[in-house]
Amino acid sequence: MPVRGHNSRKKKKKAKEPAEDKQAGKKLDNQCDDCIPAKCCMYFSVEIDEPEDMGDWNDMLWILAHRDAEIYMDDDRWYVLVNNPCRFYDPVKKCLIYTRRPRICLGHTWDDCEFRDDYNFDLHFHSYEEMERYIRNNVEEK
Ligand code: SF4
Ligand code: SF4
Repeated sequence: MPVRGHNSRKKKKKAKEPAEDKQAGKKLDNQCDDCIPAKCCMYFSVEIDEPEDMGDWNDMLWILAHRDAEIYMDDDRWYVLVNNPCRFYDPVKKCLIYTRRPRICLGHTWDDCEFRDDYNFDLHFHSYEEMERYIRNNVEEK
């Protein structure tokens, strides 16, 4: 099952230099210290099949009928994103299970994360109504 977040909203540009704090104008050694609450712990996303017919689009509408669910497409791959924080995140103590955190978290690095970048997905549906309008205007009945 391809899972992309915790941390892996795909970004368009990869930062090559250490992150720069735009407000303070300083270089940061570890931007996680300034990332409260930790953005990468506030959601997850899971890959889904590309919609092929109106039935598939209707299934995606059903997903969007649920609170905190979004759907996005990037590089022809489709994902459900759920804006729901990890229950092990604590704003003071951070990850409460740090030494035994899941592998997705283990593999995530702060120099390649969503802290500063905009994630301009090719398509991004934040609501049922937004997708409904898209279907009405862009999807042909097969
Ligand atoms: S890895 Fe990135 S998004 Fe996650 S806490 Fe650190 S700076 Fe924030
Ligand atoms: S297990 Fe820890 S690092 Fe992973 S999402 Fe939860 S709080 Fe974040």
